[in-house]
Amino acid sequence: SCPYMKMNSLNALLHVCRWIGTDSEAMLSAYKPRLVRDQVGGRSLVDLGCTPILHMRHFQFDSVRPSFAGSTTRVIISSGVLVKGQLKVREMSTTSDGVPEENHGFNYDLVVIGGGSGGLACSREAVKYGKKVAVLDYVNPTPKGAQWGLGGTCVNVGCIPKLLMHHVGLLGETLVDAEEAGWKVKVGGHDWGKMVQVVQDYIGSLNWGYRIALRDEKIDYINAYGRFTNPHTLECKDRRGKVQNITSRRFVIAVGGRPRYLGVEGDKELCITSDDIFSLDGPPGKTLCVGASYISLECAGFLTGLGYDVTVMARSIFLRGFDQHAAEHIAQYMEDHGTKIIKKAVPVKFEEAENGKILVSYAEQGNVLKKDVFDTVILAVGRDALTLDLGLDKAGVRFNPTTGKIPAVNEQTNVDHIFAVGDVLEGRQELTPVAIKAGILLARRLYGNSNMPMDYNLVPTTVFTPLEYGCIGMSEEQAEQTFGADNIELITLLTENERVVGLHVVAPNAGEITQGYAVAMKMGATKADFDATVGIHPTISEEFTLLKITKRSGISPFKTGC
Ligand code: FAD
Ligand code: NDP
Repeated sequence: SCPYMKMNSLNALLHVCRWIGTDSEAMLSAYKPRLVRDQVGGRSLVDLGCTPILHMRHFQFDSVRPSFAGSTTRVIISSGVLVKGQLKVREMSTTSDGVPEENHGFNYDLVVIGGGSGGLACSREAVKYGKKVAVLDYVNPTPKGAQWGLGGTCVNVGCIPKLLMHHVGLLGETLVDAEEAGWKVKVGGHDWGKMVQVVQDYIGSLNWGYRIALRDEKIDYINAYGRFTNPHTLECKDRRGKVQNITSRRFVIAVGGRPRYLGVEGDKELCITSDDIFSLDGPPGKTLCVGASYISLECAGFLTGLGYDVTVMARSIFLRGFDQHAAEHIAQYMEDHGTKIIKKAVPVKFEEAENGKILVSYAEQGNVLKKDVFDTVILAVGRDALTLDLGLDKAGVRFNPTTGKIPAVNEQTNVDHIFAVGDVLEGRQELTPVAIKAGILLARRLYGNSNMPMDYNLVPTTVFTPLEYGCIGMSEEQAEQTFGADNIELITLLTENERVVGLHVVAPNAGEITQGYAVAMKMGATKADFDATVGIHPTISEEFTLLKITKRSGISPFKTGC
């Protein structure tokens, strides 16, 4: 009944009563019918809190404000004056879990476990409200020994190095184009070591920047691995094995994930993952990318662009969950530009071959066993959340034992004072801006009297393959399944005034193009809004203002004019 799922207002009110000494039992029996009615109606706590307290103890309140953090109900009473008795209230608050906001006796108001996209954003927002905050961040080395600094996956082994290498790959193509267009460019191959150095130097500067920011903002940075020993205590173990225990009023779990291995012979010993590729000492040489989603295709794309002999091994379809017309187009483009693709195949064994090479045995089309030799094998077959060694059982937090992911409602786990943001959440997008926004909004709900929940709908994303693929909302397949094929045209919903429910763009700089349209779609843009917009000529993006040819019409969409 409560807009924030669990109705804890009753508990919250009880705690207010206990705190200020009101006879909660008497108050409850007198007001229960009204409380129940209000719960069913899902109405605000103002009526619930203010009137009974006024009635019972002759308080005078300027305001009683409800505030929801996830599903925790927090009641804040401002400027109270006690007519009889001692208590003088200026501002006090209580929550549905019964622990006061201030003077709670814990070391911290908030401890965030994980200094990645979500964790840093959440802690830096929380501290703005005068809270005592700590962030833990610790990176276990990969089986190949790669390690990195503060900032999490995105900064160190994700979006940032990936985008830089994507750009370097595209530069190669630009140089060739430049020569053809008359520039006198001597294209003499690419220096892998130099690129890695430049990328790692940039990452180093970001790591340093985050450390300085935490110090300046008075957030305690603890470079140690955190593990719950009870619902309010975290054991923190640093690299030298030194252990300290810290306690906190609340926790945010933002531990992200790490690449999954295949579980076949030789995978951990011989293969690498995206955690290793961006700091690889020497050039990767002939490379196999296992997997057919974001990471595999992006890595294959920039490695091909850098001139390496690259093969993608796809178990089933490309880019599961994305529009399959667009996904096929991406794969075809990559194949046409030099990436080899083995379809419907999975590796079954990795063995050491001569000169440090890797002999890969793989099953194609279900059972045909084939072999090939590679210098490097990158596994990009999904990621698991880092929760299995987090002591979640000690804290009472429920999680999915297969993926490690944590189910949550408005980022609140089943334990009232423990929250989760980012890749660790079950059923949410694994994207940096999602983790950041969820972290910021959570901190505002916890401490800033905000009621704004995170909206996981219409999240735009881009696959940074050489020809980029940006998308927002539904794929054509999803739209047809949801609304029926007859109700869909150009991924607009005919029954809702041609509201755009899916937007897909395969083009250079698709990431930049897609971001702007995300705003329009959030505002409920229809095909008519797109048609009424004047394009910018000559751009690719202007095509969205000129769309006339539908797939159903059967007319060729190829352009002949400018
Ligand atoms: P993370 O950033 O992973 O941070 C979690 C941190 O917590 C890590 O530093 C981890 O070591 C630490 N930690 C874990 N357990 C503990 C513990 N017990 N104690 C202390 N510290 C702990 N997203 C995009 O939006 N755009 C992209 O282009 C993009 N490209 C990507 C490319 C690659 C190759 C990969 C792998 C990911 C990419 N992503 C991209 C996804 C993006 O990186 C993640 O969605 C984002 O980093 C998730 O943030 P997070 O805060 O949940 O976790
Ligand atoms: P995904 O979970 O998206 O894809 C896993 C891929 O590996 C699929 O193609 C899957 O095939 C295949 N696979 C899974 N298991 C096996 C197996 N046993 N043998 C062979 N193939 C297998 O993982 P990614 O690692 O690509 O990406 C993780 C997340 O990181 C993404 O969901 C995304 O949110 C984020 N990310 C975002 C980026 C961006 O914004 N540009 C870039 C990179 C990552 P099948 O379809 O058959 O299951």
